[in-house]
Amino acid sequence: MRFVFFGAPGAGKGTMAVEASAEFGLPHVSTGEIFRAAIRDATPLGLRVKAVIEAGGLVTDDITIQLIQERLALPDASRGWLLDGFPRTLPQARALAGLCPEDWVIDLEVSDARVIQRLSGRRNCSKCSHSYHVTLKPPLVEGVCDACGSPLYVRDDDREESVRNRLVAYRTQTAPLVDYYRTRGTLVPVDGEGDAASVWAALKVIMTRLMEGERP
Ligand code: ADP
Ligand code: ZN
Repeated sequence: MRFVFFGAPGAGKGTMAVEASAEFGLPHVSTGEIFRAAIRDATPLGLRVKAVIEAGGLVTDDITIQLIQERLALPDASRGWLLDGFPRTLPQARALAGLCPEDWVIDLEVSDARVIQRLSGRRNCSKCSHSYHVTLKPPLVEGVCDACGSPLYVRDDDREESVRNRLVAYRTQTAPLVDYYRTRGTLVPVDGEGDAASVWAALKVIMTRLMEGERP
């Protein structure tokens, strides 16, 4: 089954997608992570997108759509996937609909206050997909990933100025997709305000039903 995880920066898309990937055995495809790996490895793609990502802007649709097209063509994506961070614009949503349409869009609803709080204390693993928060979800050992033991770091785009830009990009370019998916009948609103464990507990029930063919 094909799920899109949708929501503001800090809504919990990445955290929930990591849980759902382990639970349902579907590949977690995060455009943000693919871009960050490319920047880390200084590939041609990484060099092209570094400045715009660190400033909190959006990568162009051309680059992003091509990247997703290649990723979803890999063999592991044939049974389904969990998309995290794509689509983020209307042209991206239309491209996905033409390429391999989503079954469901999990829309993680969170207040602005919660988004700011989560992003301002976020720490990410330098090696795997796990993320933490200095007060809301601290790792067992400060500065070290529970899952893989690698050092944690602050993403360049989690600094204040970039966070402001990401929220503007979200409101102007990404939030309108809610109407698009509501019209397609694939939107599944989920309350994302609580802590990670309780949001996941509720989401797991919802996703299990959807996987069994029930309607939301
Ligand atoms: P978050 O959801 O916390 O903002 P992501 O890891 O999903 O973070 O994305 C980080 C950055 O990567 C975005 O701010 C943007 O610059 C770029 N990016 C990721 N996905 C897309 C996309 N679908 N279209 C354009 N840019 C993207
Ligand atoms: Zn890790």
